[in-house]
Amino acid sequence: MTKRKQIVAGNWKMNMDYEQGRDLTKAVIDGLQPSDALVILGTPFIHLRNVASIIKDISNLKLAAQNCHQEESGAYTGEVSASMLKSCGVEYVILGHSERREYFGEKDELIAKKIDAVLGQGMEPIYCCGEKLDVRESGKQNELVAEQVKTALFHLSAEDLQKVVIAYEPVWAIGTGKTASPAQAQEMHAHIRSLIRDQYGAEIADSITILYGGSVKPGNAKELFANPDVDGGLIGGASLKAADFNAIVDSF
Ligand code: PGA
Repeated sequence: MTKRKQIVAGNWKMNMDYEQGRDLTKAVIDGLQPSDALVILGTPFIHLRNVASIIKDISNLKLAAQNCHQEESGAYTGEVSASMLKSCGVEYVILGHSERREYFGEKDELIAKKIDAVLGQGMEPIYCCGEKLDVRESGKQNELVAEQVKTALFHLSAEDLQKVVIAYEPVWAIGTGKTASPAQAQEMHAHIRSLIRDQYGAEIADSITILYGGSVKPGNAKELFANPDVDGGLIGGASLKAADFNAIVDSF
């Protein structure tokens, strides 16, 4: 039996106005069944303070932001720092999502600095990695993901690494309806865990939660989560409907 934290994290992306976000949060709470899994809502910045206050009495429901700036404060118009997130009740920050990489040019060197900023505030990063379709088709996905993980994470101490949640999200499966097969997910998760084992040892590697993301739905979550190295999911589209999201939480 695994002692790792099992997590289902929603990533609302740039969806939900203020009232919709409030209503979705309440609907998720209403449908939440008792579970050992940790449930995380990854909301746009405007919702954070309100969602934090709505969920504050529910011990297995936590709040995530979807990005932050790497600096503490200063002249960075339009940006939000880790300490600002912390002050709103945020406990997790999604970093390195493929949409940040694709549309905002984020690379693992920068993501490494953001990870440091988040850890520095006592929050936990949800670090996203994963290959695009052309890399998968050329069979180089293991090398690519190894490069990402090493650049973004391997400067951390073992103690800090244990505060990081990793999310493997093959870019070709995000928002496409095309899910990695349970075998493809398991293979990559085992690969990521073996990289950590080589660098930090078996005990650390076995303690790290690795989520799968990419078109997870109520209909496929169970077989994905059944894999020994898949510790839950990072959920985009299906996190916008409380019934679907809660059904995924119930899939362990
Ligand atoms: P999806 O998104 O579930 O809509 O594929 C996952 C993600 O981007 O985190």
